[in-house]
Amino acid sequence: MLKRIPLYAKIFLGMFLGIIWGIIAINTGGIQITLDWIKPWGSIFINSLKLIAIPLILVSLIKGIGGISDVSKLSRMGLKTLGLYVLSTIIAVSLGLILVNTLQPGKAFPTEVRENLLSKYQSKTGEFLSKAELTKKSQETEGPLYFIKELVPENIVSAASDNRNMLQVIFFALLFGIAMISVKNKPGVNSVKDFFEGLNEIILKIVDFIMKAAPFGVFALFAAIIVEIEKDNPGQVGSLFIALAGYCATVILGLGIMVFIVYPGLLSIFTKHKFINFLRGIFKAQMLAFSTSSSAATLPVTMDCAERNLGIKKEVSSFVLPIGATINMDGTSLYQGVAAVFIAQAFGMELTIIQQLTIILTATLASIGSAAVPSAGIIMLLIVLESIGVPAAGISLIFAVDRPLDMFRTTVNITGDSAVACVIDYTERKHNNI
Ligand code: ASP
Repeated sequence: MLKRIPLYAKIFLGMFLGIIWGIIAINTGGIQITLDWIKPWGSIFINSLKLIAIPLILVSLIKGIGGISDVSKLSRMGLKTLGLYVLSTIIAVSLGLILVNTLQPGKAFPTEVRENLLSKYQSKTGEFLSKAELTKKSQETEGPLYFIKELVPENIVSAASDNRNMLQVIFFALLFGIAMISVKNKPGVNSVKDFFEGLNEIILKIVDFIMKAAPFGVFALFAAIIVEIEKDNPGQVGSLFIALAGYCATVILGLGIMVFIVYPGLLSIFTKHKFINFLRGIFKAQMLAFSTSSSAATLPVTMDCAERNLGIKKEVSSFVLPIGATINMDGTSLYQGVAAVFIAQAFGMELTIIQQLTIILTATLASIGSAAVPSAGIIMLLIVLESIGVPAAGISLIFAVDRPLDMFRTTVNITGDSAVACVIDYTERKHNNI
């Protein structure tokens, strides 16, 4: 009977039971047991998804390009993809700014709660600050072409050994794929193509295997998140969430507008996809993004959903989605815009229009630079704060609710990537009269 329950329902059940477990553990002294015996299963689940990410990008991109008849198609697709990614990110930050300036959730933030949080999270802020400094320093010392230089790895084996180097792996796969189609009639090349096709099937099967364990993985992740929030803020979770309710509501409202208004708009302008079918198609990936807070860990499932459920061609999904997971974070940029202004408001600072425009620029860049892993957005937020002269220590104010918000913004991040993939797929088909 269990076999007949769809996977998404089982994942839902996993989430629900995880939350229940977490609440029971908090109230019965089971926090340590949960951290020792349940949490590791969540990490194992995320690791196994991450494990497959690099091989999947490499193989599916090479296979995808193998099916392309001319290389000019790639540059056209690349330009469209980057253009849409930047556009959707700018829309997201601007939306966040409009909402936070209208609703002003930071204005009413109680001063004593602010002082309390500032001293409580002092050391954690320091830790994040040094991580952000590291990113900034390498950009400053390497000059303006730092990002382009970073794209080209000096060694593919070492590049592929770190999930943070996804763009470098994409670069190599593109190079390999283009070279492969340029010599397609030479002896032996077809066998290489067949080899990658076979490898691709095997990797997709591994994704299937991992997804079978998803309900258990999600259960463990949720149980751990609940007890960790309580462990970090003993006895204060309720009051902190109430104090930050206005901020959370502003972020969630903005994310909701992205998902239910902006993306459907994008889909209806550029494609014939029905929004409801789109949502149904990527629902599994959205749930996984919500539970793991990592676009990178979700990538194998996002690609699977795009191809199997939305019918997006492999040559498009294998190109657009990995790049999107790395650089397109609409949810993160919206959140960074809201958080920066919220913190300024809580400190009683009025931001000028120039400072607000600076936020659009820095949050767009910061979201591009954020790694696709949990909490990356809050580290890059420090750079946004610095650019407008708001004290970095201000991130202490939002720590307590950052993990739940990370779950929502990651879900929006992968939804945006998938919407853009639909647009690229549709416009490419139209271009080729398919
Ligand atoms: N967790 C987000 C992601 O993986 C990044 C962030 O906003 O922290 O997409």
